Amino acid sequence: LEEQFAKSQKMQAIGNLAGGIAHDFNNVLTIITASVDFLLLNHRTGDPSFQDLLLIKQSANRAASLVRQLLAYSRRQTMRPKMLNLTDVVADMHLLLKRVSGDHAKLERHHARDLWPVMADIGQFEQVITNLVQNARDAMPDGGTITISTRNVEAAEAAAFGYAEMTEGDYVLAEISDTGTGMPVEVAERIFEPFFTTKDIGKGTGLGLSMVYGIVKQSGGFIFVDTKPGEGTTFRIFLPRHIPAQVTATKSDAVAAPVNA
Ligand code: ADP
Repeated sequence: LEEQFAKSQKMQAIGNLAGGIAHDFNNVLTIITASVDFLLLNHRTGDPSFQDLLLIKQSANRAASLVRQLLAYSRRQTMRPKMLNLTDVVADMHLLLKRVSGDHAKLERHHARDLWPVMADIGQFEQVITNLVQNARDAMPDGGTITISTRNVEAAEAAAFGYAEMTEGDYVLAEISDTGTGMPVEVAERIFEPFFTTKDIGKGTGLGLSMVYGIVKQSGGFIFVDTKPGEGTTFRIFLPRHIPAQVTATKSDAVAAPVNA
């Protein structure tokens, strides 16, 4: 547990640092881009330095895109948790998720009835789902199926999963699985680290799952991965069941805590 905590602290620190650097870096990039644009105006396509200038501009653009992701990553800290039904959130995202899945991945959803509410930031939870579906799609270049399911998991069943760091209690479980490449252990162990990626330069920043991890942790939840090379991957997100406070004002309450005093 301590190791887990240290890891999450470390990731938060890296996130803050990255955000700070990204901000300053952005200002530098703006100057580079503007100067290169100016130089390009004064060069013709055939000039010896034209290709080099173009390369500088393209590289600056790529750096700018990375910086944008870093900024988005470090801004995640502000969260506004509300009472949510995860099934509704996922159902409302259906069209978006279909687009993210692409043409050759099939998208399936299974939702149990009467899902318990959870406390989470809706925008952030949408980011979590989008990221996981994006990764699932990337893991299935030859097609396959992405399945998203939501259901209630009572304390006893939650314990039976055997995840040591999970605290006792009722949870809502969201599962995202794919029939893609899966991961070897040495990859699976590192996927939540910021900047860890196996994707080509320009295709992945390695920030997606680190962000997902941060959001789930901030919501008081847990995330686990189950994966087998050649078979596929399942991400499990457990968010604690939220039990709304009963608002039954009695006379004695009114005396103890007068509302309009
Ligand atoms: P990125 O997608 O930019 O690489 P992520 O943090 O989202 O960054 O993912 C880190 C790495 O985890 C990926 O590069 C990939 O190797 C691995 N990964 C994540 N999701 C899956 C998946 N569903 N199937 C196989 N590998 C995955």
